[in-house]
Amino acid sequence: MTSPALDPTRYARHLSLPGIGLEGQERLRASSVLIVGLGGLGCPASLYLAAAGIGRLGLADFDTIDTSNLQRQVLYTERDVGKRKIDRAAKALHVRNRELTLDRIPEGLTPDNAVDLIRGYDLVLDGTDNFATRYLINDAAALAGVPVVSASLFQFECQVAVFAPSAGGPCYRCLFPDMPAPGEVPNCAEAGVFGALCGVAGSMQAMEAIKWITGAGEPLLGFLLTVDALSHRHHRVRVGRDPGCALCGADPTITEIRAERYRFVCDPFPGEKPEIPPREARALADALFVDVREPWEWDLVRLPDAVHLPLGEVARRKNELPRDRPLVVYCHAGIRSLRAVEGLRAAGFSRAVSLQGGIDRWAVELDQNLPRY
Ligand SMILES: [Zn+2]
Repeated sequence: MTSPALDPTRYARHLSLPGIGLEGQERLRASSVLIVGLGGLGCPASLYLAAAGIGRLGLADFDTIDTSNLQRQVLYTERDVGKRKIDRAAKALHVRNRELTLDRIPEGLTPDNAVDLIRGYDLVLDGTDNFATRYLINDAAALAGVPVVSASLFQFECQVAVFAPSAGGPCYRCLFPDMPAPGEVPNCAEAGVFGALCGVAGSMQAMEAIKWITGAGEPLLGFLLTVDALSHRHHRVRVGRDPGCALCGADPTITEIRAERYRFVCDPFPGEKPEIPPREARALADALFVDVREPWEWDLVRLPDAVHLPLGEVARRKNELPRDRPLVVYCHAGIRSLRAVEGLRAAGFSRAVSLQGGIDRWAVELDQNLPRY
């Protein structure tokens, strides 16, 4: 009997593709992917994985469908509003691949279930929109030895990467050691997310998952792909493993999942903030610009005449900075720089201010030639 998943007219149109073939199709059928978050990313990603003939999908999401989801969460229709995402998604996926096994995880991914849940799958697909869950996925997956296909969206940009310390690649913390929280987080900043861009990023995640499982091509392991949808500029930045990483480095301090590490705070700096908009910062006479981002970000783009002092080194090396000049501290979006400024002010650098919106806002408002990421 021909199984539906092997019927070339229905599910296996890529059977003849080099590097996939029948063997790749069989590998897909024998593989499992945990989708965390059935939103703008998880919908297209799970749709393509189901259509491609994946054997088993775990659906982890605690949420119900809201009207505002429909512009990007393409598994759901107007009739689904108010219902659980896992139920409607399971129905929509099953009609596309009757052989697909679906696990419903209605509580979503939590600190309590994360490691055990992830351990039951070959790969995790991060479809979340908040940093707390992203760090939870990263940490639990690294502890379980399971790779993560990650994507994130911010306004018109998306980033895609594969994180797998067990395969020699970096983890998310190697790039972003601490949870940055607000500003960069769509659900906090309430930045709109383009439905079509979710489709692009979610499809890329499905593609990376299929490549990883079938062994086709070169995975985005050790690379961060950034796509600016407005210009269609793609950057593939090499990102390495950080030997000092708290999770996957030589001397890790994160060796188990502790719930308090994943509490999400939307605004860690309530009230008056010591920050300055880009235009005013540029007009500041005699200011020294201090870049507190990671080395790979510094290599990608920087402000002229800035000095580089990654956030993790500010406390130790602060005395290299002048105390008699205004310091304009910047990062990507203005969150890490606020942390640095807090520390510097406490250490007596009373003229330290944070660049509001970071180098990204500078690029938008003052210098469109600067690459954005
Ligand atoms: Zn790491």
